[in-house]
Amino acid sequence: MTATSATTAARATVYGYPRQGPNRELKKAVEGYWRGRVTLGALRQTAIDLRAATWRRLAGAGVHEVPTGDFSYYDHVLDTSVMVGAVPERHRAAVEADPLDGYFAMARGTQEVAPLEMTKWFDTNYHYLVPELGPDTVFTADSSRQVAHLGEALALGLTPRPVLVGPVTYLLLAKPAPGVPADFEPLSLLERLLPVYGEILADLRAAGAEWAQLDEPALVQDRSAAELDAAARAYRELGGLADRPRLLVASYFDRLGDALPVLAKSPVEGLALDFTGRAAVNVDALAAVGGLPGKRLVAGVVDGRNVWINDLGASLTTLGTLLGLAGRVDVAPSCSLLHVPLDARAERDLDGEVSRWLAFARQKTDEVVTLARGLSEGTAAIAGTLSANRADLASRAASSLTHDAAVRARATAVTEADSRRSQPYAERAAAQRARLGLPLLPTTTVGSFPQTPALRAARAELRAGRLDTEGYEERVRTEIRDVLAFQERAGIDVLVHGEPERNDMVQYFAERLTGYLATQHGWVQSYGTRYVRPPILAGDVSRPAPLTVRWTTYAQSLARRPVKGMLTGPVTMLAWSFVRDDQPLGDTARQVALALRDEVNELEAAGTSVIQVDEPALRETLPLRAADHGAYLAWATEAFRLSTSGVLPDTQIHTHMCYAEFGDVIQAIDDLDADVISLEAARSHMRVAHELAAHGYPREAGPGVYDIHSPRVPSVEEAAALLREGLGAIPPERLWVNPDCGLKTRGWPETRASLENLVAAARTVRRELPGSQG
Ligand code: GLN
Ligand code: ZN
Repeated sequence: MTATSATTAARATVYGYPRQGPNRELKKAVEGYWRGRVTLGALRQTAIDLRAATWRRLAGAGVHEVPTGDFSYYDHVLDTSVMVGAVPERHRAAVEADPLDGYFAMARGTQEVAPLEMTKWFDTNYHYLVPELGPDTVFTADSSRQVAHLGEALALGLTPRPVLVGPVTYLLLAKPAPGVPADFEPLSLLERLLPVYGEILADLRAAGAEWAQLDEPALVQDRSAAELDAAARAYRELGGLADRPRLLVASYFDRLGDALPVLAKSPVEGLALDFTGRAAVNVDALAAVGGLPGKRLVAGVVDGRNVWINDLGASLTTLGTLLGLAGRVDVAPSCSLLHVPLDARAERDLDGEVSRWLAFARQKTDEVVTLARGLSEGTAAIAGTLSANRADLASRAASSLTHDAAVRARATAVTEADSRRSQPYAERAAAQRARLGLPLLPTTTVGSFPQTPALRAARAELRAGRLDTEGYEERVRTEIRDVLAFQERAGIDVLVHGEPERNDMVQYFAERLTGYLATQHGWVQSYGTRYVRPPILAGDVSRPAPLTVRWTTYAQSLARRPVKGMLTGPVTMLAWSFVRDDQPLGDTARQVALALRDEVNELEAAGTSVIQVDEPALRETLPLRAADHGAYLAWATEAFRLSTSGVLPDTQIHTHMCYAEFGDVIQAIDDLDADVISLEAARSHMRVAHELAAHGYPREAGPGVYDIHSPRVPSVEEAAALLREGLGAIPPERLWVNPDCGLKTRGWPETRASLENLVAAARTVRRELPGSQG
C-alpha cells in the first residue's frame, strides 16, 4: 500500500473505555459512597482523576479524538435518561432532593421505591437500566454532565468528541412506564425528544465540541419500515440544525442492513460502522450504496468486544478498500472498549506466548493507532509491528493449545446419531418412571443452595493459602451433608448437593477444562459496580479429569432419594466467556459438549439417575438479526443434545433456564429433547406453562413456583395456587414443582421456609388430583 495524501490522513479514535480504573477505583469509590465512607467530594475527585488518566493514556497512545461522556457512575443509558429529563415519577422527589442520590435510587431502588428494570445491552454481558416512558413524558435538556466532561478534556488540551446514546436507540431501548398501556410505543415520542437533543448539541457546540457522536446500535437489529423512517426523520432534523457540532452516527455489534442507506443519505457528517465478524458485510453494503462521498467514515476494524489481537494485515486490506468509499477514513475498535478488560499486560500468570495473542483495551487502542498510521503513511511505517503481529498470529494458529489433534479428530467424527437419545421420549419416560418411582408433581430444586459467609470465607482462606485443600474440601462436605439433611427432612423428592464447591457456574468448569484461561485482573463491567472476570476460551477443549463426579457421588452416598448431577451446558459455557474467534462458535460449542458428554456419562456410570445440564444463556446469545437465528439455534441445540445423549433411556436429563420470556426460542427448547425443564414462572403467574402447552411441548416441565429473586417466603396457599394454574396447562404426570432458579444468593431462613412450603403445596395439590388416595 502506498502512502495517501495528507488530506486523507487517517486518525485513530475509540468510542468508550473501561470506566473502573486499573484497580477498580471507581467500584470502591461508589460503593464507599453508598456506605457513607466516601464523601461526595472524594467520589467526584476519583471520577475526575479516572477520566483524566484515561484521556491522557488514549492521547499518549496516539488517539486523536478522545471520547467524553462515556464515563458513568453506573450506566450510560441511565445517564441519558437524566440528560433528557426522563426521570420516573416515583424517583422525582429523590432526584430533586439530591441528584446523585436520586440517580443511584433509580439504579438500585430504595426501601420505598423500585429501581428501573435492568436488561442486557444488546447481545453483550453489560446491563443497562431501561428507560420508562409514557404518553405524558416531558423531556427536558440537561447537558451539564456532558458539558462538564467535555470541559475537563478541553482543559487538558485534548480534542474531545462527546459520545451520546442516539435518540432513536434511546427510545427503542425504552419500555412503557408502570401504568402505561403495554402497547405504548416509546418511539412515538421521537418528535418530542429531538428538540431536546438539539438543545444538548447546541450546548456542546457552544462548549467547544467540533464533533459529537450519536450511538445508534439499535439500528443493527431488524427494524420495521416505520422505525427506519423514524431514523431518517431524526437525522434529517438533527442534521438540519444550524447550531451543532458535526455529527458522527455510530453503529456496532452487527451490520446496518436497511438502515445503512437511511443513514448514508442523512445530512450528518460521518458514520461509524462495524466491519468485524457478522458486520464485515458492511464493506460491500457500503459500496452498494455508493459509499459516503464527502463524509467521514470511522471504520471499526478491531473487534471491540473480544480479547484477541487483530490481524493487522487483514484490517489494512479492509481499510484500503474503505479508503475509496468515503471522503475521510478513521480507524476505531468496532464498539466501546467497555466490554473488554483494561490491560492484557497485567496478566503476569499467563504463558508468555499466550499473552501475546491477547489484546485488551490498552492493546486495542495501540492497534487502531498502528492501523491509522499504516493507512496514512504506508505499511513501511509500521513494518516492525506488522511482522511481530504476523508472528503472534502464526504462533496462535500453530499452538498445541489451539490445535489438539485428538480433540479435533473426535469432534470431526461426531455423527447425527451422537446427538440423539436412543429412544423417543415416551419410552424414556416410562423407563424413568419405573427406575425413579417418583410421586406425581415431584419436588426438586434448581441446584445451588445458599452460599453461606462461612463457605465464602473458606474459599478466600484456600486462595490465601491459610486453608489447605483437604481442610477446604471437608467444609464443602459439611455443607453437602447439611443441605441433604435439610432436603430429606423437608421431603423433597429429587435432591441436589447444593453446589457449595462452585464459585460460579461457568468459572468452576472453566478452571477444570483444558483450553480455558483464567485472568487475574480481567474485570469487565456487568452492571453498576458489579464486575466479572470472564474466563477466556482460548484453545481446544478437553476434560483431563472428572469435574463434578466425586461431589455428586459423595452426596448420593448419604441419601436414599436420587441426587441430581449438576452441570453447566455448552452454550452457557461459551456465552459467559470470551470465546475464540479463529473457528466457528459451533465448533467450539461441540468441543465443550463432548467434554460435558464424558462427564454426563461418567456421572451415569457412577449411579446418578438424574442429571441436569443448565442452559440459562440459550436465549441471550441469540444473534441480533432474525436471519442468523436458525444457524445459531441449530448448533446450540445440537451441542446440548450431544452433551446429554450418551445416556441410557432410564437416566433422566433435566435442563434449566432462568427467564419467563422465551417465545423466540420455544422450538429450540423443544429441540433440546431434555426429559424435564425448569423455568422461571412465579412472577408471571405460570404464563410459561401456558406457552409450553400452546406450543405442544411434549415433555415434563417445572415452571417455578417460588420467586428466588426476592427474600419473600411464598405461602403454601400461594404456591398451591400456582401449581393449580400450572395443572391447567400441563398434566399431572408431566408437572414438576421447583423454585424459579438456584438459591445461592438467598439466605438460609427464607430458603428453608420457602422449600417447606413448596413441598406442602405439592402435597396439598396431589391430594386434589383425581384418583388420589386423599
Ligand atoms: N444450577 C444453577 C444454580 O442453581 C443454575 C443457575 C442459573 O440458572 N443461573 O445455581
Ligand atoms: Zn436460573
